Amino acid sequence: MAETYRKLVATSISTDFRKAAEVVEEERPRPGPHELLVRNRYAAVNATDVNITAGRYDPNATLPMDLGVEAAGIVEAVGDQVRQVEPGDAVVTSTLGGGYREYHLVHESNAIPVPEPSPEALSIMVSGLTASIALEEVGALGHGETVLVTAAAGGTGQYAVQLAKRAGNHVIGTCSTDEKAAFLEEIGCDRPINYRTEEVDSVLAAEYPDGLDLVYEAVGGPLFDTCVEHLGRHGRLLSIGYVSEYQDGPEKVTRERIYTDLIAKSASIRGFFLPHFAPHFEAHMKKLMQRQRSGTLDVRIDDKRFEGVAAIPDAVEYLQSGESMGKVVVHFPEAT
Ligand code: NAP
Repeated sequence: MAETYRKLVATSISTDFRKAAEVVEEERPRPGPHELLVRNRYAAVNATDVNITAGRYDPNATLPMDLGVEAAGIVEAVGDQVRQVEPGDAVVTSTLGGGYREYHLVHESNAIPVPEPSPEALSIMVSGLTASIALEEVGALGHGETVLVTAAAGGTGQYAVQLAKRAGNHVIGTCSTDEKAAFLEEIGCDRPINYRTEEVDSVLAAEYPDGLDLVYEAVGGPLFDTCVEHLGRHGRLLSIGYVSEYQDGPEKVTRERIYTDLIAKSASIRGFFLPHFAPHFEAHMKKLMQRQRSGTLDVRIDDKRFEGVAAIPDAVEYLQSGESMGKVVVHFPEAT
């Protein structure tokens, strides 16, 4: 009898991930000439998982749709033309639909060898690359500037805080609990703001009258507006996400057009979407892996454990609840 494996697919379009997702079992595939069959050990959970099930990534996607993106695992079999990787090697991968499954068939060019399939190495693939490439290639990260990071204790925020700090900037980070604020201090954030106990607008007005030079903005909604209002002269705001509006969709707002906030300060808002920056992946990946190895990049993995394909909706809802700290991952144990 053929061996099978489990994966998670969307069988309907919805921002309610649990409602859209279904566990299915299928035959384990054999790799084609340039493919690898990877047994996933960890999959990354992302804020955007609910955008994927909502069909916002590919409006023409057909159902059922494979879910998840990044995974770390061990190569189990390779195609007869594969030369650089062999069974037993550890790799990380990042392909739409490649994460939430026990086995993954992937082209050899989409697998990056790593020393071990750890959650930390996995977190670089999207969370780390987004922060590194957005700040440096689009945000013109400098030094001696004031940088604000929203969702700073989250999967990608923790990278942005550390990269901005290491470059020699003053870093402000927003979060929702004192525990997260303490974590932000540990990773070098100069001014954590717990927005449940302090008003971000008042803190910025009182303590940063010259405004913000660079903002890594991931939350959206009123916090985005506050960040735009507090941009300083030549300030740059990187709009990388709006997690606060993923469930209900973006609020329609009526206000003066955005140029009234920007021109007088020569400020700018720059959108960022990681898949558009593929030529930068290799260099930034190398740099982040090297920093992880040397201990100059401290990557926090959320300590809540999610095991197996069936637990993925719990993990996605946990991230969406706003409670998580660091990177949320799902573990596929050896025995499942
Ligand atoms: P995450 O930061 O690990 O988790 C989301 C965090 O957002 C929560 O922990 C919560 O922390 C904060 N948050 C604020 N308001 C929220 C709300 N109403 N509902 C849920 N969470 C809320 O998630 P992530 O996967 O790293 O993604 C963070 C952001 O980066 C998302 O907007 C995502 O789409 C974006 N992103 C964009 C790209 C790109 O290519 N553009 C790539 C990766 C990620 P606190 O409230 O404590 O701050």
